[in-house]
Amino acid sequence: MVIETNKVVSVHYTLTEGTAEGELVESTQGREPLMFIYGVGMMLPEFERNLEGLKVGDQFAFGIQAADAYGIYDDTALVEVPKSTFEQEDGKIPDGLLEIGNMIPLQDQDGNRFTGMVAWVGLDTVKLDFNHPMAGVDLFFTGHVEAMRDADPAELEHGHIHGPGGHHH
Ligand SMILES: [Zn+2]
Repeated sequence: MVIETNKVVSVHYTLTEGTAEGELVESTQGREPLMFIYGVGMMLPEFERNLEGLKVGDQFAFGIQAADAYGIYDDTALVEVPKSTFEQEDGKIPDGLLEIGNMIPLQDQDGNRFTGMVAWVGLDTVKLDFNHPMAGVDLFFTGHVEAMRDADPAELEHGHIHGPGGHHH
C-alpha cells in the first residue's frame, strides 16, 4: 500500500523554517501523529505531492516555498488604523488589547470575519498585519510515515477521519 488519494495517512513530522536546521515551528514528536485523508484537500497540495507513493516506514525531507505554502508576504496587508477604532462605548480601549503580537478578530461592512495581528503601536494609530502568520516563510518538513489504511465510505462522505485520532460520533 502506498500513499494515494483516499488513504488515511498518519505521519510524524517536524516543521522548521527554511531548512531542516531552521527555527522549529511545530513537531508531532512525543505527541499523536498527524492523521489526514490524502488527496481530498485537507492539506497543502505541495505537502501531499511530496508524500505521494510513500509506504509505511518511509522517511521524508522536503521544502515548500512560501508561495506554495501560506503565500508571500504582502506589504499592502499591513494596514494603519486609528486607535479610536478599538474604543468601546465608554470611549476606552480594553486593557492589553493593543499589544504587539495580539491577534484581533475584526469584521468588515459585509460581515466578513478576519484576524489582524498588532504589528506596531503608535500614539494615535496602530498597524495591523492581515498576512497569514506564516506568510513569507519557506517550510521544511522532515519525518516518516507512521501508518496508513483505506478511508471508509463514511469518512469520505463526511470529509474527516473517524475512530482513533479522528471524530467520534
Ligand atoms: Zn463523520
